[in-house]
Amino acid sequence: MKLYNTLTRAKEEFAPLCGNTVRMYSCGPTVYNFAHIGNMRTYIFTDILRRALKLRGYRLKCVMNITDVGHLMSDADEGEDKIVKASIEQKKRPEEISDFYTKAFFRDLERLNIEKPEIIPKATDHIFEMIELVQGLLEKGYAYEIEDGIYFDISKFPEYGKLSGINLEDQMAGARVDVNEEKRNPADFALWKKAPTEHIMQWESPWGMGYPGWHIECSAMSRKYLGEQFDIHTGGVDHIPIHHENEIAQSQAFSGKPPARFWLHGEFMMVDGGKMSKKLGNTYTMDDLMAKGYSPMVFRFFCLNAHYRKSLNFTFEAMDGAKVSYERLLSALAAHRASPKKTDPALVEEYMRQFKEAVDDDLNIPLALGVLFTLIKEEKSADIFEAALKMDEVFGLRLSEARQDAEEGDVPDEVRKVAEERLLARRMKDYARADELREKLKGMGWAVKDSRDGYELVKL
Ligand code: AMP
Ligand code: ZN
Repeated sequence: MKLYNTLTRAKEEFAPLCGNTVRMYSCGPTVYNFAHIGNMRTYIFTDILRRALKLRGYRLKCVMNITDVGHLMSDADEGEDKIVKASIEQKKRPEEISDFYTKAFFRDLERLNIEKPEIIPKATDHIFEMIELVQGLLEKGYAYEIEDGIYFDISKFPEYGKLSGINLEDQMAGARVDVNEEKRNPADFALWKKAPTEHIMQWESPWGMGYPGWHIECSAMSRKYLGEQFDIHTGGVDHIPIHHENEIAQSQAFSGKPPARFWLHGEFMMVDGGKMSKKLGNTYTMDDLMAKGYSPMVFRFFCLNAHYRKSLNFTFEAMDGAKVSYERLLSALAAHRASPKKTDPALVEEYMRQFKEAVDDDLNIPLALGVLFTLIKEEKSADIFEAALKMDEVFGLRLSEARQDAEEGDVPDEVRKVAEERLLARRMKDYARADELREKLKGMGWAVKDSRDGYELVKL
């Protein structure tokens, strides 16, 4: 399997560092607001990578952190803490803010059929590990203390900039004049910030009360759960020049070893040709899309049609196109599923070979989807449905829900909506809510039967 490594700017053959288990770290959400669909594109990309590795037979140990402190309004240590800001604005405790948005994030993962990583640590549960790292960096001479905190001295780490390809001199010259004149170099970044008494999130440390810098969180949690060296680190492209560069500097300065072998980055989701971001106020959430009648699977399908290293422009016209194609795919598969015919195993095998080849070539999912679309044009047969399900272990498009439901067209939209809500409640293991919705459906004149991959609706 070949993966594009940002560190070497080349597609490289992937193999785990140790045995058959892939250890992977993905930067998780800062939980101060709802994740937008651009963020979700990045998590879909990581999910595809997970699934592709599993198809290859690897075992997985994936970590995705939850940033519930330390991420300031700008990635480069300036402005207020995002969680603290939301907490003041919404007049809630910081934990209430982060718990609420963490739950909303998990709900979006579930809706989008994104598998949960094995370990999901919260930054605030790892303050001790972060302090330990900062202390180590001070002892080794990579960090220094000034009035408002502890900073990393990038001039002590000659490899600084290797991920983004900027050399240290350019980095030093390019960094704009900083307000903090005590810093040794303008691009030095905070490892730990000393907190003014009124700051609402703070912990004891050898340097008085304070709170961690954002970058140190990922170094501390990846080290704790995956060790000093692991296989893959992922994130969005915006993290390359600051966050990931800083993570490498901290981790490598501390342990003497580069933390991850492969660095993979997902390109942006754009809107009207510009970046989609909370700061610009041009974002949509999954709730927004669902309110407009687009199911999470249609959004996932939309994302899979672009390679993860290409930017993807979001438009409602494109979503409409994705909706039509996805529905066509499901109805073709329903017809295959219902067919009693067989297909020559050699033919199915050939399609599977092409599919795997596409996936193994740096996750060429658009090409892999092309293979699926050619496959479904073959004569109707249940074998083809089975092959599509195998491919869906990577796509994660819930293709098993394709069913030939004679009454499909007769089910009114509002009934279908309640049934979908009930399916989600069941998946979230909220059985009380599922029962309530079953009763509601009954009241609307429909019985719902659970099946292995979804449900069937029967008119009463
Ligand atoms: P954040 O919660 O801001 O830390 O972002 C979570 C993840 O989403 C990070 O991996 C970002 O790189 C990624 N991200 C942010 N904006 C976009 C976007 N417009 N398109 C794709 N990924 C994004
Ligand atoms: Zn990170």
